[in-house]
Formats: sequence, C-alpha cells, structure tokens
Amino acid sequence: MEKINSFKSAMQQLDNAAKVLKLDKEILAILRQPKRILSVSIPVRMDNGEIKVFQGFRVQYNDARGPFKGGLRFHPQVDMDEVKALAFWMSIKNAVVDVPYGGGKGGIIVDPKKLSKGELERLSRKFIDLIYKDIGPHVDVPAPDVNTTPEIMAWMVDEYAKLTGRFEPAVITGKPLSMGGSQGREEATGFGGVEILKAAASARKLKRGASVAVSGFGNVGSFFARLAAKAGFKVVALSDSKGGIYAPKGLNIEKVEEYKKQTGALKGYPGTIDVTNEKLLELPVDVLVPAALENQIQKNNAKRIKAKLIIEMANGPTTPKADVVLHRRGIWVIPDVLSNSGGVATSYLEWTQNLSGYYWSREEVLKKLTAYMANAWKNVLAVQRQHKTDFRNAAFILAINRIAEAIRARGV
Ligand code: GLU
Repeated sequence: MEKINSFKSAMQQLDNAAKVLKLDKEILAILRQPKRILSVSIPVRMDNGEIKVFQGFRVQYNDARGPFKGGLRFHPQVDMDEVKALAFWMSIKNAVVDVPYGGGKGGIIVDPKKLSKGELERLSRKFIDLIYKDIGPHVDVPAPDVNTTPEIMAWMVDEYAKLTGRFEPAVITGKPLSMGGSQGREEATGFGGVEILKAAASARKLKRGASVAVSGFGNVGSFFARLAAKAGFKVVALSDSKGGIYAPKGLNIEKVEEYKKQTGALKGYPGTIDVTNEKLLELPVDVLVPAALENQIQKNNAKRIKAKLIIEMANGPTTPKADVVLHRRGIWVIPDVLSNSGGVATSYLEWTQNLSGYYWSREEVLKKLTAYMANAWKNVLAVQRQHKTDFRNAAFILAINRIAEAIRARGV
C-alpha cells in the first residue's frame, strides 16, 4: 500500500467542495491551516524506574461554530499531518451533524498495549498537565478515539479538576457514567452508523438481509456489527488487526465477541474461513464497512471492491484517488463525516447534560441521536441530488457552507 499523506487528502476534499461553492479566497485560506497546534513532550516514569518521553499533539483546527471538539488517539503511527487531517475532518463532521462545535483532534505516539495500567494512567494525566490551560468546556473538549477509553477520560477529567480546583465534567466527553458520562455514548458511533446504513441501503435499493463486511473490531466496529445484525443485515465478515473471518451464511456477533474475549483474536472462529484484512475489503458483499484506520481503500484495491455501498466508520479510510474510482464504478461511499458522526453528536448530548446538570435516560439520548442522524442524512442527500455529486463532496459542501457562514458572521 502506498504511504498517503492524510492532510493532503483532506485539503483535496476541501478544494473539491470549495470549487462547487465558489468559496471566497479568504475563507478558503483560513480553512487550509489549523488555528492552533499544541505539541508537547510528555515525560513518564515507567514501572522500571526509568523516565520515557512521549510525543503528544493537540490540533485546534477551527472554532468558528463553537469550541474545538474531537478525540484523542493513542497509536504508534500518530503524526502531525495525520492529526491535522483528523482535526479538519472533525470540523467538517461537527458541521454536517450540526452540533455547535468547531473541530480538533489530538494524539500521543504510543502503543498503549505495551504499557502497564499505571504507566497508561501517568501518561494520560501528564498529557493533561501539559495542555490543561488550552482546553476547557468552552474552549476545546477532547473525547475518546482510537485506543482511548472512558477510563482514560476519567483520569484526564480528574487531573483537570486537580489542576484547576474545579470538577468540570464538560471539559471531556466519553466519560464513564459514574462521573458524568452519558447513557448511550459508548455505542453511539455504531448506533448512528447503523441509522445511516438503514437509510442508505434503502435509498440504494438493497434487499432485506443484505450482506455486510466490517473491517475493524474496536468499539465502533463491534457495536456497528451487533446493531446491523439486529437491524436485519447479514454480517458475513469481520476483522481486527490480526486478520479476519468470513462466513457467507452470516455470523452470530455475540458469539464471535465471546470467542475474541477468550482467545484474543477473531481468527480461527469455528465454521469460518480466515481472510486477511486486504481480502476482506474485496469480498462479494453488498455493504463494506471500513472501521479501522485511514487509507485502507486506495486507487488499486478500489478497482476490486465488489460492494455496492460503503459506510465509512473509520476516519479517512478512502483516499481521494480511490473516491474517483469508486464514484466512476457507481459504488456509493457514505463518508465518515456523516456515517460516524453519531459519536460526536452524543458527545454533544453528554456535554449539554454536564453543563445543565440534568441527565437523560438511554431512550431519551438515543431518540435525540436518531433525530440528529436522520437530519444529517436528509441534508447531505439533498445537496448530493442538487449538485449531482458524490456523498463526500455533498457533505463537505454542506459543512463548509455552514462554517463559512459562521466565520463571516463573527468577522475575520
Ligand atoms: N473520536 C470520535 C470521532 O472521531 C468522537 C469525537 C468526539 O466525541 O468528540 O468522531
């Protein structure tokens, strides 16, 4: 696979939408760079007594529509251009799903699986020590992303409280329920994605019981698979970082999850064929769901994809060149900034509950989330039809227009 610079891809997507919008040059220039970048060195005392220094970033891309908002990822492949792209995509996503936020993203270069729990906690707390003056409920609101959990968010909120002398749960979302988390937040991204799957499958006229392959079995992929099966789709393939499994007759997701818990992998699940991650993307299925990392679908393998519909649950899984190939082949790509926006929409619901101090039931939260997803789908579809373009460009046109309006209203 080619090494792709995600920020270049993001800027290409921005240019495509800006062209249709005939966006003024000033606004385009503002959107081509993040507003602020924090780059920190994080010294952590390891269990063996030595100090190890980790690199961390927070990119605050745009805050025209509200505080910067977006997750923090812990991954060995994190780099500045990736975080810049992810922060830009958050700005777009928050405008597509229409929550009053700008966009941000952060990350630490680390493989958290190689740290003890104590080391992970010290790393998380130290990161907050270094950035706490630049975040806050009305400034920048982090959340979980790849390899970060409610437990990590709890340590961070606690550290923020110690440093500021105030317990302000609205500073970070995706927290455990016991400290101001929201009902429904954990499954929210998968839940929202399945709402989009249902709407898109119906618009694409897929038959009931359409087959689905999911690449990536973290928080997002596993909830998505479970809820898609519940909604009547036939999930036939799943994969994690170690490889995947394929069963043309369909999988029982709960049983597969149990198996993964016991063995640590999906591979070898009885009655299935082992497939590599690359092969999973090319299986003869109706719907393909990339739910792992960026740039899984590139120009070359885009030619071999057989699905009719792609629901992007990862951020940035398809490169701009692959988009061109897929569009030409009549394959619908429902972009990340729409499909996985249920996570941040529910982060918004968590934040409003924290700020008001009044909490909703799971049913209430999921009902509100369903409305956000339905609205976002309806609005993107309308732009897609109006401009006869692909869904990504439609989502970007909708979002950039909204961000540009806010920039103009506030004055440059
Ligand atoms: N990390 C998630 C995303 O990429 C959620 C961000 C948030 O809730 O702020 O959308």
